[in-house]
Amino acid sequence: MRSTVVRYQSVVRIYPGEECGVVAVYGHPNAATLATYGLYALQHRGEESAGIATSDGKHPFRIQKAMGLVSQVFDSTSLAALPGQMAVGHVRYSTTGSSNLTNAQPIAVVCSQGELALAHNGDIVNASHLRARLEGRGSIFQTTTDSEVILHLMAQQVGKSVEQAFLWALDQTEGAYSLVLMAKDKILAARDPHGFRPLSLGRLEDGYFLASETCAFDLLHAQFLRDIEPGEVISLDADGVHRLRPPNPIETSAFCIFEYVYFARPDSTIHGINVSQARIQMGRELARLHPVEADLVIPVPDSGNYAALGFAEEAGVAFDLAFVRNHYIGRTFLQPTQLIRDFNVRIKLNLVQESVRGKRVVVVDDSIVRGTTARARVANLREAGASEVHIRVSCPPHRFACHYGIDFPDPNSLLANQLPVERIQSYLNADSIGYLDIAGLLRACGSQHSGMGFCTACFTGNYPVAFHRGLYKEILEKNQTARLAAK
Ligand code: SF4
Repeated sequence: MRSTVVRYQSVVRIYPGEECGVVAVYGHPNAATLATYGLYALQHRGEESAGIATSDGKHPFRIQKAMGLVSQVFDSTSLAALPGQMAVGHVRYSTTGSSNLTNAQPIAVVCSQGELALAHNGDIVNASHLRARLEGRGSIFQTTTDSEVILHLMAQQVGKSVEQAFLWALDQTEGAYSLVLMAKDKILAARDPHGFRPLSLGRLEDGYFLASETCAFDLLHAQFLRDIEPGEVISLDADGVHRLRPPNPIETSAFCIFEYVYFARPDSTIHGINVSQARIQMGRELARLHPVEADLVIPVPDSGNYAALGFAEEAGVAFDLAFVRNHYIGRTFLQPTQLIRDFNVRIKLNLVQESVRGKRVVVVDDSIVRGTTARARVANLREAGASEVHIRVSCPPHRFACHYGIDFPDPNSLLANQLPVERIQSYLNADSIGYLDIAGLLRACGSQHSGMGFCTACFTGNYPVAFHRGLYKEILEKNQTARLAAK
């Protein structure tokens, strides 16, 4: 019997958009507990729902998933209901399909390949087309996620091995995917040919561990072995690690550069480049590109911290943590009030006024999306008595949508899509503004040494994988509603 815990909670998003995190454990008696620890480390990648499926290789899979944070979904009781030496886990921020329990992962099915449980990070850009084709042949979908098409494609490979079915399904699938898939006695894992999203492999005592980011390895004392390479497909079973498909040439990769700028945790290392070190280099590049006479450099915490450090070091200017983040506002039911201007900004970040009074301040942020919070922060600084406010941003202006797993707002609400940079400066009421350019960003992320290719589409509009123009988060729901209405 499969067991599913159902809990509903409303979720208030802290960040402008997150994606998902995946973990897998093979060959450890406490697989569910270790998967939970891994998901704790990946919580920043998705706060809407969390889930784990386990197997002991003999009995049906066990599954627990619910809306909420990892700490709210898993406790000693729920973990006791997840026996087995294998596990796949997932934390979700929805980028395709609504945020609800039905769409939480892992997605488990029983099909021609036996039992399967899938966890996915990324966006499959041809999911709508694949789903229409599959439904035309009689497939019955349980979710409105893009991920589920992979399981349906596999189910069609009657008489083939799980490995063959997985590879065949991936051949039909376009876009971004870092996947872990649990079958009866093995774990399979894959990255899409461009390697948009990260996925790493480690050793865990006598078993193996896979996670979206290496920060999860540290927590478990897992030994990092290597990244799964773009295009690579592997399996983990009793005989060890098997490469089912070799990686693509590294030059054809298109790793999401925004993982280094914002999404990944600073204590993670991706393709040999530590994220915090990359951010420090972004700050150094930014200081060289847009120097300014100033008394103080302050970050917008937390993701601006390292870039601000790099900027301050390179510019030889004092560094201070003048913005203080409130870490306890993940779930608030308070509503903005007229009495408190800029409530949503102020409740997250408060200013140490004494630090900035009378100073020429450089504020280093990792990105400006809509610009409303950046504008409110400049107002805060001026109210606190800063004599000048200079904005520096550790990536280029965001002008385009992401179709590979990051939920940016509609391009029409991106500030840099509406205004040229000089008008952004006056909109924010800043004394100057400077964005890092693409060349500096690529250098900071080590492209010249690693040979790694990067996706920069949300800055440049150069999309590595073609996508349907009408692609957006609720596309599968909309299609479903239209089909039902036509009946
Ligand atoms: S469009 Fe931007 S956020 Fe999306 S994968 Fe490319 S670099 Fe990352």
